[in-house]
Amino acid sequence: MLRLILLSLWVTVSLAMKSYEGYKVLRIDVSDAGDVAILQELQDVAELDFWDFPRDLMVPPTLLEFVEHYLTSNDILYYVWMDDVQAKIDGVITSNKPRTDVDGFDYYVYHNYSEIMDWIDSIVATYPDLATSFSIGLSHEGRDLKTLKIGLETGKLKRAIWFNGAIHAREWVSPATVMWMTNAFLSNVTEGTNPDVTFVMEFFDMYILPVMNPDGYEYSWTDERLWRKTRTLHPGDECYGTDLNRNFDYEWGGLGASNDSCDNTYRGPEALSEVETQAVVNFIRQQSQEQPFRLFIDYHSYTQVMLSSWGYTYDLPVDFDLMEAHMKVQTAAITSVFGANYTYGAASSTLYPSAGGSKDWGYGDRGIPYSYTLELRDMGEYGFLLPEDQIYPTAYENYVGLVAGLIHISHQ
Ligand SMILES: [Zn+2]
Repeated sequence: MLRLILLSLWVTVSLAMKSYEGYKVLRIDVSDAGDVAILQELQDVAELDFWDFPRDLMVPPTLLEFVEHYLTSNDILYYVWMDDVQAKIDGVITSNKPRTDVDGFDYYVYHNYSEIMDWIDSIVATYPDLATSFSIGLSHEGRDLKTLKIGLETGKLKRAIWFNGAIHAREWVSPATVMWMTNAFLSNVTEGTNPDVTFVMEFFDMYILPVMNPDGYEYSWTDERLWRKTRTLHPGDECYGTDLNRNFDYEWGGLGASNDSCDNTYRGPEALSEVETQAVVNFIRQQSQEQPFRLFIDYHSYTQVMLSSWGYTYDLPVDFDLMEAHMKVQTAAITSVFGANYTYGAASSTLYPSAGGSKDWGYGDRGIPYSYTLELRDMGEYGFLLPEDQIYPTAYENYVGLVAGLIHISHQ
């Protein structure tokens, strides 16, 4: 009976959601900067959703003919990578089982915002000596930006690290990974069997925000699975949503950040226009007066790449050698677990420019030497629609990578 009720609830929710039936994702063969400019123009004109600019482009059925004609007439090659986005969405949540089972939290399914908030409470209840939680503010729609602090109390001044998930709503494996890793730190240190983990928990206080964009994240569960931005509508703007990862107040408004509210990389009307970025900035500014922050990682998906500053310029930061050595250690450790290939580099030259991003702020404004975007699985088989059975390998390999990276920077 319960199963039936759950199932019917699921159907009701599904019906209320935007359908991506007939949407396709094209994989584009980008050969030079000229192609990139042509694709940028296409995005500006048609307000299309590049899952991974300039390579993976989602196209609604109404625009398919136009886009295919545009690409062909510009001699740009492509193929249909995902034929029906809705079918892929339907395949991601593979079971109708309750999202939290009686044996405790199920790390191997995706969880909505309120389940994640309950999880934070249960973590603090389970590990009262190791974990505390607090709110660093409220989202635009009034949801708590609930943050965890975990670490072993040593009585000495500890260095701090920060990591967060779900700055982009549709990247569901990001909060799932952040939660799994948090639990791994706590259970491993409690067992006391892994000296590396005990060491990093003694050396660092970890500040963890599993869902940085709660309004967008919730919206990706209830209305549009592929929503990315916040849910603000600023006066004079045509469309909802600001890209929080273009809204930080370091070199805000430059390359790779749109001034069009309908774009997925909309930077907002001004730097820190979003309360979510304000909350993170205020918290780290304040806390870094108490203890030095050494590492900042903003977990995203997908493409399996670790990206350092700069995002706003093609120039390399003066500390790039340090960052590169660290990224090499962390990505090699990630790969060592299951052989998944993760690359690394400075964001602008490796991916594309993105001014106003979190890692540039961490490094540029706060002087956090190791400040990154980390794109999780996959390489582009499922993209944002990563099946739940990949949560475990993604989280596990990244936990091993993070621990190895922390050991490395503790010697710096
Ligand atoms: Zn992202």
